[in-house]
Amino acid sequence: VISLSQVVKEFPSDPPVRALAEVSLEVRPGDYLAVVGPSGSGKSTLLNVLGLLDRPTSGSYRLDGVETTSLRDGARTRLRGARIGFVFQSFHLLSHRSVADNVMLAEVYGGHPRKGRRDRALRALDRVGLSHRVTFSPERLSGGERQRAAIARALVGEPSLLLCDEPTGNLDSRNTDAVLDLFEELRAQGLTIVVITHETEVSDRADRRVRITDGVLVEAP
Ligand code: ATP
Ligand code: MG
Repeated sequence: VISLSQVVKEFPSDPPVRALAEVSLEVRPGDYLAVVGPSGSGKSTLLNVLGLLDRPTSGSYRLDGVETTSLRDGARTRLRGARIGFVFQSFHLLSHRSVADNVMLAEVYGGHPRKGRRDRALRALDRVGLSHRVTFSPERLSGGERQRAAIARALVGEPSLLLCDEPTGNLDSRNTDAVLDLFEELRAQGLTIVVITHETEVSDRADRRVRITDGVLVEAP
């Protein structure tokens, strides 16, 4: 799925910040990878590059065989919509819309066809075990349910890659477990998952770990 080679990301400041220093990384279909490292080490920068939200300063990033660094913005946006789902620490759900609407809005922004939107949303909510909450406002959901709704939103475009930045950072240990169980199920269905985390509870359950320190990535035990 992912092939990064010698990726450098620098932010222009004085002196420039080198957030990623010649990072190379291969992630195969169905891999479940945890990224760990101290604050400011480059984890979110890596996720933004992987998610086609940010371009590397130099180096190569191939996603499902496509060299992304030379793509125009429009093609990058379409590739992102077709292949990538995002999950963040704060769930970013719209509180004045129902759970189902939140998922359907992601389809609108993802450019998915109007036909079948609701069915796809309901299927995504079923995958995360929220069929009984589709009409609820996110405000009436528990933290764990909110994150599962956000995961349904990430899944509705049938991505091949799920990118998660501290997905359990706002959850207690019971809800963390529920989200981790869900990741394992999704992985078993063939999804590739990359999760940034500070919690050993989360990284221990991934099947592979990498550590970033000052923008340098190394395999971790
Ligand atoms: P945290 O665990 O606190 O979320 P992180 O590992 O995600 O940290 P990044 O957000 O990737 O760290 O930041 C890596 C480095 O790049 C930091 O030194 C940060 O200040 C710098 N940086 C990140 N984004 C920008 C930006 N848009 N402009 C300038 N510098 C940036
Ligand atoms: Mg971060």
